[in-house]
Amino acid sequence: MSCDASGPYRLNFDTDALVANWRKLDRLSGRASAGAAVKADGYGLGAVQVAEHLQRAGCRDFFVATWDEARRLADTIAPERISVLNGVQDADMPLALSCGARPTLNSLQQAERWRDTGRPCDIMINSGMNRLGITPGEAITFDWTGFDVDILMSHLASADEDVAQNTEQLVAFLSVLEHVPGRRRSLANSAGIMLGSDYHFDCTRPGLSLYGGIPRADIAEHIAQVVFPQAQILQRNTIQAGQPIGYNATFRPEEEMEVAIVGMGYADGFSRLFSNNAAFAHGGQALPVVGRVSMDLVSLDMRAAPEPGEGDWVDIPFDLPTLAHQSGLSQYELLTGLSRRAVRQWSVSI
Ligand SMILES: *Cc1c(COP(=O)(O)O)cnc(C)c1O
Repeated sequence: MSCDASGPYRLNFDTDALVANWRKLDRLSGRASAGAAVKADGYGLGAVQVAEHLQRAGCRDFFVATWDEARRLADTIAPERISVLNGVQDADMPLALSCGARPTLNSLQQAERWRDTGRPCDIMINSGMNRLGITPGEAITFDWTGFDVDILMSHLASADEDVAQNTEQLVAFLSVLEHVPGRRRSLANSAGIMLGSDYHFDCTRPGLSLYGGIPRADIAEHIAQVVFPQAQILQRNTIQAGQPIGYNATFRPEEEMEVAIVGMGYADGFSRLFSNNAAFAHGGQALPVVGRVSMDLVSLDMRAAPEPGEGDWVDIPFDLPTLAHQSGLSQYELLTGLSRRAVRQWSVSI
């Protein structure tokens, strides 16, 4: 006997919105072509599905963090189109050589480790974020003879703000270009694309905005929502005035209140920070969260919605800037926390 997936929490992903976001980011990248950051399992949406859809739309470059992510993606994406941002350690070498993706060389030690393979690689320049990467001084004096470098890249620390650091990083990146090999150059993430053509080079690396994230106000008009979560009502109760709801009794209604218990919680990435601090929706009516968010359950004030009961579905408005503002979590955390046990459905592309 086979059963379709079933469960009280589902994540609906809008395939057309994902593809439209990539196309928009590709166009906003001017002469550069947009790749796609699909690390952390496609920011929680599923790297394989995301990459399949974007590859069909014409996306050529895919960025992951780890070799295990590269290996999983290599069934779907030709390995020479996959770049592994976290670099290559000794222990990664067997997988790196069998998998065929490119390491992003983040240190001279990694460069020496890769030199004799003769295989393609990318190079990360530390232009001032001081996270991973080779400093301009090191990169300029190193002997890169014999390296087959596809993308020479750097990463912006504050592209979501209009601050001097962006220009400083651009200047530092420009200073290495004539000294370090690379068939293509790349600097911008999602937010960096909005900094203008000086930042585009040959290839951009958006992640967040593919998935509906809004790192800067000026990108909002271009980006569509991709993730649409829904939760099922497991039970509907009438709670008397003054009676406690949920763990530690953090909410007591002032008047009699209809409350729905839905089947998802912080184990699905819906943080406890949303306790008494978010609203679900049904037919356009807001349903405030009342009491603590539990591991697998959330209680909702149903006064605005007399109709829905056990077995019905309610929406979780997944406006990332709003949820980030309410919770103090970043939009990245909200996406990468998306539930692994939810029933996941990609819309059929029109
Ligand atoms: C994560 C990452 C990106 C994508 O950044 P977004 O802000 O999600 O667009 C691009 N480049 C590097 C090196 C990254 O680590």
